Amino acid sequence: MEIVARRLAAALSGERIESVMTPGINALKTFDPPLSALDGSTFRDVRRRGKLLLLEAETESHGPLTLLTHLMSAGRIMLYEKRASMKDRTSRVLVRLPGDRELRVREFGTKQAAWIKLLTLDGLEAEPSLKTLGPEAWPDPPRLEELLATPRPLHTLLRDQQVISGIGRTWVDEILHAAKLSPFKRGDDLSEREAAALREAMISELGRVLDVYEEKVELPLPEKFPKPTRVHAHQGEPCPRCETVLEAVFYEDYVMTYCPHCQTEGRILKDRRLSRLLK
Ligand SMILES: [Zn+2]
Repeated sequence: MEIVARRLAAALSGERIESVMTPGINALKTFDPPLSALDGSTFRDVRRRGKLLLLEAETESHGPLTLLTHLMSAGRIMLYEKRASMKDRTSRVLVRLPGDRELRVREFGTKQAAWIKLLTLDGLEAEPSLKTLGPEAWPDPPRLEELLATPRPLHTLLRDQQVISGIGRTWVDEILHAAKLSPFKRGDDLSEREAAALREAMISELGRVLDVYEEKVELPLPEKFPKPTRVHAHQGEPCPRCETVLEAVFYEDYVMTYCPHCQTEGRILKDRRLSRLLK
């Protein structure tokens, strides 16, 4: 989302909004102020917080308003030169811009999970999805000893947006591998040195991914982003550090990949999928 916010901020700041529509019936979660308050307003900025996108506009009727957007797992936001056909079933939100252009939230798959809220400054301050977010993992996360001091395993802690925000499950594998830590090590079991290594890995891995995105991601924004992974979903391939074959634990809807040599002192972690079958 960071690169999306950067690209959209550069493209949209100062741009006039003609109108906003929500063909996705469940997409809009607020009713006051009405979406029509954005008609004729001007984009001020686009920012990211956690996995949320904040599209900020200056309106005549309501002052500054923010269109808060969560794309969930299957949503995409793209800037199009032409407006969508009304028959496009993937459209959830359409922000119409001058010259037939359009900022469009689309969602692929059967679920309608992506949502938007139109919020005043007060509404933004009280917004639960923002209030409950933990500190940002990048570019300057806090010390992790206190933050992660619970008996939960690192791989769930790092994905928990209320603990620390902005890390997707893909990057958890990369970060833990870079820090040479087991995904099942408990948060309250980190030594000072390990916590510092984890913090460093967080900054460097997320920074590395952003550098790739800076180079490769262009407007109108891709449907599929590149995934510059070295470990995640590379099970069966050699570890990029020690060449041991990478192992994985499979969950219902994702996979966790790790290096037994670098991260788990040679232990192969139990495959949940297999152990469930054997019950
Ligand atoms: Zn290794």
